[in-house]
Amino acid sequence: MDLSYILNELGEERENYFNAVAPPIIQSSNFTFKSVADFRKALADEYYATLYSRGNNPTVDILRKKLAALDGAEDALVFGSGMAAISTPILSLLNQGDHVVSVAKPYSWTIKLFERLLPKFGITTTFVDGTEVKNFEKAIQFNTKLIYLESPNTFTYELQDLTTLSLLAKNKGIITMIDNSYCSPLNQQPYVMGIDLVAQSATKFIGGHSDVVAGVVSGSKAMIKKIFDAEFLNIGGNISPLNAWLMIRGLRTLHLRMQRVCDSTKKVVAYLDGHPKIEKVIFPFHPSFPQYELAKKQMKDAGGLFSIVLKVKTLEEVETFCNSLQHFLLAVSWGGHESLAIPAAVGFTPEAFDVTNSNHRLVRLYIGLEDPDYLISDLKQALEQ
Ligand SMILES: *Cc1c(COP(=O)(O)O)cnc(C)c1O
Repeated sequence: MDLSYILNELGEERENYFNAVAPPIIQSSNFTFKSVADFRKALADEYYATLYSRGNNPTVDILRKKLAALDGAEDALVFGSGMAAISTPILSLLNQGDHVVSVAKPYSWTIKLFERLLPKFGITTTFVDGTEVKNFEKAIQFNTKLIYLESPNTFTYELQDLTTLSLLAKNKGIITMIDNSYCSPLNQQPYVMGIDLVAQSATKFIGGHSDVVAGVVSGSKAMIKKIFDAEFLNIGGNISPLNAWLMIRGLRTLHLRMQRVCDSTKKVVAYLDGHPKIEKVIFPFHPSFPQYELAKKQMKDAGGLFSIVLKVKTLEEVETFCNSLQHFLLAVSWGGHESLAIPAAVGFTPEAFDVTNSNHRLVRLYIGLEDPDYLISDLKQALEQ
């Protein structure tokens, strides 16, 4: 399917709403029926019905069709956050006593899902270094039901070999799921590479304006329907029609924003690479990256997020660099119009700072839509401080 068709036309039935170019926000919780027979049919299988907005809503449905198509998948579900899009399918797929093999260091709240929430239901997780397929193979147990991936990771960018892992899992009847937030479907299509479920924090690139929290999971129709029929409706993590509308608006410019972000990131990385105050730049599309070949093979492009390790002796110097930035905002999240910085040191107390640990001197940067030269001059003056 053409990207232009997906972003501009797919799912939009304009003759149903006065030929309006922008779709309406169907801000309604419930939908009425002409007869008891129609009402009964809708209740019997809500997946196919417009009954109640915790399940289906016409505005959300436009977004859902577009997001499924972007992933090259059969169907998708849209949620009120990326975390709901990760936890709801996992709670749907797993039963008491099941085991998960997860890549090490997934997104922080995903770690908490595996370490704190799932053990309440007797579900255990083994975390493995995902850079080697054999580490997954070794960790598989008789009760392993899910292999969970995040490629690249969004702080240190380790990749997993998606095609090889999907084949390994298929041979053993294990479901695979990935957090594809870093790449977005424009730069990586894991479903097309054989991964069963592809989740994404739509808060990031899909929304793109730092004004909505949302999530999506894509997969086969059978798997998505199974999730919809029980846990999606039961947990109730649906997105609101207004927020879905803002996501549709974000999608109109997704390709332009991604291109700009990827181009600017390469320019900024080229400036920082070899800078005397920087020990290293960690970026999957940099030739020095240990998995550069794999990155080039399975990702169309990389951009937005990368990390730098500062050549400093004290935490104060890390903080001075960050506090001196005038155009990079100190904030969590990424994928919006604005450039961001987050030092790893926000995650621990000043006393815990260990200068010999390069991860403690790491600062993650996100390159937004500003002029890259404007950002480079900001980094230059902050590095001089
Ligand atoms: C932000 C993020 C999430 C969580 O998404 P929310 O929309 O904040 O719930 C999950 N994974 C990654 C990689 C993220 O960056």
